[in-house]
Amino acid sequence: MKVIFVGAGPGNPDLLTIQAHRLLSNCQICIYAGSLVSPEVVALAPDGAELHDSAGMTLEEMETVFARAQAQNIDLIRLHTGDPSIYGAIREQMNSLDKMGIDYDVVPGVSSFQAAAAALKTELTAPEIAQTIILSRTSGRTPMPEMQELEHLARTQSTLCLFLSIHKIGSVADELAGHYGYHCPVAVVYRASWPDEKLIQGTLADIAAKVEEAQIKKTAMVIVGPALARNIPASKLYHRHFSHGYRQADEPGNQS
Ligand code: SAH
Repeated sequence: MKVIFVGAGPGNPDLLTIQAHRLLSNCQICIYAGSLVSPEVVALAPDGAELHDSAGMTLEEMETVFARAQAQNIDLIRLHTGDPSIYGAIREQMNSLDKMGIDYDVVPGVSSFQAAAAALKTELTAPEIAQTIILSRTSGRTPMPEMQELEHLARTQSTLCLFLSIHKIGSVADELAGHYGYHCPVAVVYRASWPDEKLIQGTLADIAAKVEEAQIKKTAMVIVGPALARNIPASKLYHRHFSHGYRQADEPGNQS
């Protein structure tokens, strides 16, 4: 018997991995994060499967379900939104499972920052401008480690993907503007890949007002950085004078 931590992806069931789809469609016991996992994904569990919404559960209550599955020798699917490794609180569950002598595996999922980039039809990296993507958040009830406060991250001018931060968009934008400048592009994607997905694009100067107008208060990804601009010089990868392991440069005089 095993517990399998499964990434449910950002919402649209088509974005589940084949492995996640297969495990979910055959599961007998599933604990899912009801606050974020889409009902369409949970609906893939077969009729008669035992379903538990972790939103209303404590770790001890989850341990009770783990123990029962162990006693019955039934694999348990632990469904997490996006990819389980990002703000998934899987560590404490794994520590419990270690203590209980229960084995576990992890199936990765499409994270919401990736679904947001797809919705925006954007590249998060840009040659010579942003070669680093930072996944972070602003402080909530969980304080930020001091060296990872947004103002420190902003100094790197990387592309910032902020989870769990939409409720503080005003102060986040002001804090970031100190380093990125108020003209820096920002995008907010509400419920990426859900039927009611919303895209809001602006700058650090106007994004807070736009978010307020759209009444977005949760389940949104905030992406900030100059890489979001379209008028960025092309990378060398497809330039005809740039050769690499898979393609010879098209030498001047040798042009087709
Ligand atoms: N493990 C998840 C993140 C969980 S933290 C992942 O990999 O995506 C929860 C936060 O993720 C939300 O506050 C929101 O910032 C973001 N999020 C989750 N699903 C989202 C979606 N469909 N669209 C936009 N943001 C989403």
